[in-house]
Amino acid sequence: MVNKPIITVKNLVKKYGDFTAVDDISFEVYEGEIFGLLGPNGAGKTTTLEIIETLRDKTSGEISVDGFSIEKDADNIKKRIGVQLQAAGYYPNLNLSELIVLFSGLYGINKTPMEMLGKVALTEKAKAKYKDLSGGQKQRFSIATTLINDPRIIFLDEPTTGLDPQARRNLWDLIREIRANGTTVVITTHYMDEAEVLCDRVAFIDGGKVIGIDTPDNFIDKLVASGFERPKQVKLANLEDVFINLTGKEWREE
Ligand code: ATP
Repeated sequence: MVNKPIITVKNLVKKYGDFTAVDDISFEVYEGEIFGLLGPNGAGKTTTLEIIETLRDKTSGEISVDGFSIEKDADNIKKRIGVQLQAAGYYPNLNLSELIVLFSGLYGINKTPMEMLGKVALTEKAKAKYKDLSGGQKQRFSIATTLINDPRIIFLDEPTTGLDPQARRNLWDLIREIRANGTTVVITTHYMDEAEVLCDRVAFIDGGKVIGIDTPDNFIDKLVASGFERPKQVKLANLEDVFINLTGKEWREE
């Protein structure tokens, strides 16, 4: 496969007053991949994402998204991307169907609620209010709203934080399905196990700098080749696998 960059970030810097939150970051995201930005709280992941999403101004650097420059063509970029809203953005008294109609209207796109809810296995909740959904369902719904404008790229900022293992794995399946349908996915997480199984490539960010970019397999192989050994023999399954196996993982969360 030829890797065609769909996002290019060059020497991105973001300062808040004297504080440098993003310190000369460069990376590319390839078309059709799940790309992970990994790092601890405060590393600069959200700031970087929001600048790419045209929601926050940069201090310096160059960014292009699907061939469009962030400075000259922000409107074209907005049309081609899907961004998860924070929960506060959902009107509390509307049900999921009504929210989809509302968002479709905002985009000027005619999508039926059932089509969008079907993509995230929520048709049964069409008449439920957002606030009455489980954590996993809330995340799936917010992912449905990112897909309304048939985006080329979606951005997911810590979509699985706080979810139980079953809901987390359901969300991984959904994200893989979205990629299989041709959408590039950029995700932030601080769960390393999640990045390992979900992401095609990851960038580690720490203190506003990129400290490494590669596939999870390459990172691990290089570490092992350098002589690193885990102190303890790893079991072939863990407690999370036991839980998933006991409960069954298919869309079970309510
Ligand atoms: P988290 O996982 O906690 O969301 P993050 O990697 O996404 O972390 P950012 O939210 O990008 O980190 O924040 C990076 C740094 O910039 C943090 O030290 C944060 O306090 C600071 N920061 C973020 N937004 C602002 C702001 N509007 N004004 C001042 N400092 C800010």
